[in-house]
Amino acid sequence: MTTETVTLEKIVALCKRRGFVFQSAEIYSGLNGVYDFGPLGTLLRNNIKALWLKHMTQWPEEVIQMDGSILGSGQVWKASGHLENFSDPMVDCTNCKKRYRADDMDLERPCPSCGIKSWTDVRQFQLMFETNLGAMADSASKAYLRPETAQAIFINFKNVFSSCRVKIPFGIAQIGKAFRNEITPKQFLFRLREFEQMEMEFFCKGETARHFFDMWIERRRVFYQDLGIDLNKLRVRPHAADELSHYSRGTVDYEYNFPFGWKELEGVANRGDFDLTQHSTHSGKELAVFDEETKASYVPHVVECSLGVDRLFLTLLFDAYHEDEVEGEVRTVLRLSPKVAPIKAAVLPLVKKLNEPAEKLYQALKAAGISTQFDESGSIGKRYRRQDEIGTPVCLTIDFVTLEDNCVTARNRDTLVQERIAIDRVVDYVLAMQR
Ligand code: ATP
Repeated sequence: MTTETVTLEKIVALCKRRGFVFQSAEIYSGLNGVYDFGPLGTLLRNNIKALWLKHMTQWPEEVIQMDGSILGSGQVWKASGHLENFSDPMVDCTNCKKRYRADDMDLERPCPSCGIKSWTDVRQFQLMFETNLGAMADSASKAYLRPETAQAIFINFKNVFSSCRVKIPFGIAQIGKAFRNEITPKQFLFRLREFEQMEMEFFCKGETARHFFDMWIERRRVFYQDLGIDLNKLRVRPHAADELSHYSRGTVDYEYNFPFGWKELEGVANRGDFDLTQHSTHSGKELAVFDEETKASYVPHVVECSLGVDRLFLTLLFDAYHEDEVEGEVRTVLRLSPKVAPIKAAVLPLVKKLNEPAEKLYQALKAAGISTQFDESGSIGKRYRRQDEIGTPVCLTIDFVTLEDNCVTARNRDTLVQERIAIDRVVDYVLAMQR
């Protein structure tokens, strides 16, 4: 039996209890909108990123990687339009001094915090973090933490194109941190001030951009399907004309049905030739490419897929979290795909006397590069629950019969089916679950 009782509070508590996510600087009362990832969280993130990369690079067209700098000069952000446009409307309550995003509020109503209606004017708030390079704090030394990873790809387009012997169409993928001084960070990992993005910019001829736009929208669906996300909770929402960003010729959001509503998970955009044209104009450098067929130069168009690691992390937790009733007891289980589950298998000696053969199996799994836990404390039932709660797909129990038949009991997290497996087949068995 499944009870649909997932709430943000339960996810936050589980993340802290089991070492997925901690509030940053918690012992100093925390930093708002910033989180640290514990051992299990780090494993889950790494698995998410690896799967994303696999899905970016498995198609016939070439997609290569780069890793740009986090600090960027003001010139980059001027050309990209961020200095002018990357702001949110902000409003303050003059009574309790609370600050809100104006587009989240009904300003005809009183402040939800103090109940008094006394708003300041709505002002635009620049979301980029500013800093200075070197000892002089003047306008020439001004730099910004990147609010997205994409611009590093655009400004390096020519470097990559001419150094890597790639042909258009091709893509550049990048995973890295981004920073936005969000007015109201909220919903745990959903809206952060420091987060990580997985972005891919696909360069193509203008006349093929629509084709590749549709193609990448479909390819992203394949990714979510592979992740095992409930596709009934995922939808593609095209942006209305008045909602499109200044650069966009068409954007769709992949939205997930969170407990707090349908919200953007990923954006796929047909950016036209806006980015390369802007950087070419502002830098004075030629970013067009020569077409051998037509013997003419052209500026490539760009199709972008942009997804937050943290937002997908949160989505996966919501999607995987279940409370089942097993033999009259409620168990919490994370039904994470074995492809991304932080721990792939747990080795459980039935009693301490069996630690030696269990330890041997544990070391064999680790040597095969499989993220494994060894758990010898508490009843077997308790140990199963501990592994269910962190999404471990299989528990391997060593019992006294193991000493005779060289088999272990493999207990499946989802079906609860138990089967005997020969010890020398265990590594392949666990690896096969991740395929
Ligand atoms: P929103 O409308 O939610 O502010 P956006 O449209 O500005 O998002 P994009 O600039 O398209 O977001 O960013 C691409 C992706 O990066 C988003 O789909 C999301 O997954 C992730 N992302 C953006 N901002 C944040 C944030 N503050 N915290 C966590 N993830 C974010």
